[in-house]
Amino acid sequence: MEAPYAKLEELEPGIARVLAHNPSAFTYYGTQTYLVGSGEVAVIDPGPDLPEHLDALEKAIGGRRVAAITCTHTHRDHSPAARPLAERTGAQIIGCAALALETVGPRADASFDGDYRPDRELADGDAIEVDGERIIAVATPGHTSNHLCFAWRGALFSGDHVMGWSTTVVVPPDGDMAAYMQSLDKLRQRDDRVYYPAHGPPVDKPQQYVRHLVGHRIQREKQILRLVGEKPRAIPDIVANAYPGLDPRLVVAAGGSVLAHLLDLERRSLVEQQQDLWTAA
Ligand SMILES: [Zn+2]
Repeated sequence: MEAPYAKLEELEPGIARVLAHNPSAFTYYGTQTYLVGSGEVAVIDPGPDLPEHLDALEKAIGGRRVAAITCTHTHRDHSPAARPLAERTGAQIIGCAALALETVGPRADASFDGDYRPDRELADGDAIEVDGERIIAVATPGHTSNHLCFAWRGALFSGDHVMGWSTTVVVPPDGDMAAYMQSLDKLRQRDDRVYYPAHGPPVDKPQQYVRHLVGHRIQREKQILRLVGEKPRAIPDIVANAYPGLDPRLVVAAGGSVLAHLLDLERRSLVEQQQDLWTAA
């Protein structure tokens, strides 16, 4: 299958998508940039700063007014094209906050875009206007502390919070499992008809899918509790037992997710840490 790089795909009236050429074990075929609106457009997750992708976006915009360039969060596969696209179109960057790097020690790693600077930040419930309609920000911390989803006409642009191809990576210190679970619960209380994630296909039964994701994390948590209940274990040992046959490229990310679960369980006084060994409390 040839992925549709640099091609404009119409998904429904007012929603189109352009796939960036940055495939990887974490991005699937690449980052999907969404164009929302008709007479004017908002650009959601402009993606990596690749000239070919920026050219494709500029062509897709086709001279229309860009009401906003917005990012769900500031991982390097989502936000670096924001500034160059703003320079090409004259639009403002309105969206998630820049990452607070020093709130509890350095929260960033190499996957973060430290250069991201929005012209205006959106908080939960804030809106961007496109064609006189509102795109509403839905704060969904967990994958990152600054993650936003965006709601428009019953569609939810779900970024990396909920993806159509894989479970979400939640890596401390910026990723937080308890926040992620609360953010899933927040989506469960909404009635969006479809999710458009930054990676992977649309999710057309969102409620069912979010219930499945919550169940998956609860199973993972039980499994980790069982493993550390047998004997004190280090994270690589837990990963080896909990993720049999894991793609070697994903071992570090799986270790991060296990750590996120353990920190959440520690906060709930269910596990304890001694040096690098974790044990049931
Ligand atoms: Zn991400």
